[in-house]
Amino acid sequence: MDNHLLTLKRPHMFMMQRHINVEAPLEACGLLGGKNGMVEVVLPVKNAAESRVRFQMEPKAQLRAIEQIESEGLEIVAIFHSHPKGPSVPSPTDIAEASYQVVNIIWSKAGRRWQARSFWIEDGHAAEVPLTVINV
Ligand SMILES: [Zn+2]
Repeated sequence: MDNHLLTLKRPHMFMMQRHINVEAPLEACGLLGGKNGMVEVVLPVKNAAESRVRFQMEPKAQLRAIEQIESEGLEIVAIFHSHPKGPSVPSPTDIAEASYQVVNIIWSKAGRRWQARSFWIEDGHAAEVPLTVINV
C-alpha cells in the first residue's frame, strides 16, 4: 500500500475541524491512526507551543495518543495541524521539523471556511498528495 495516499471518512474531517476551530487563533495539531492509508481514529493533541504560527505536540499527550493508536492495532498514518492565518501549504519550519514519514494535513482558512490539503514531506521538500474523503 502506498503510504502517500490517505482515505478519511467524513466524520474524521468534522472532528479535526472542530478541534482546530476551538483552538483558533492558535495553531492546533493531532495524530491520525489507521491502517493501509485508511484513517480509523482522529486524536487531537495539545499544542505545547501555544502559538499562532507554530505547533509542538505536548510530549505526554502525544505519547498517550500513540499508545491509544497502537493499542487498537493501528499505526500513525497522518499528522494534522492548522494554519489559522495561512498559508495552505507547509511552512519552512514544518518542512524542517517533519519528524514522521506520514502524510501531513494542513488546515488553513480560505475566507471563513477551513480547507484541508495534504502533503508528503521528505528531504526538505513538500509535495501535495491527494486526500480522499468518503461519505459513510
Ligand atoms: Zn505549519
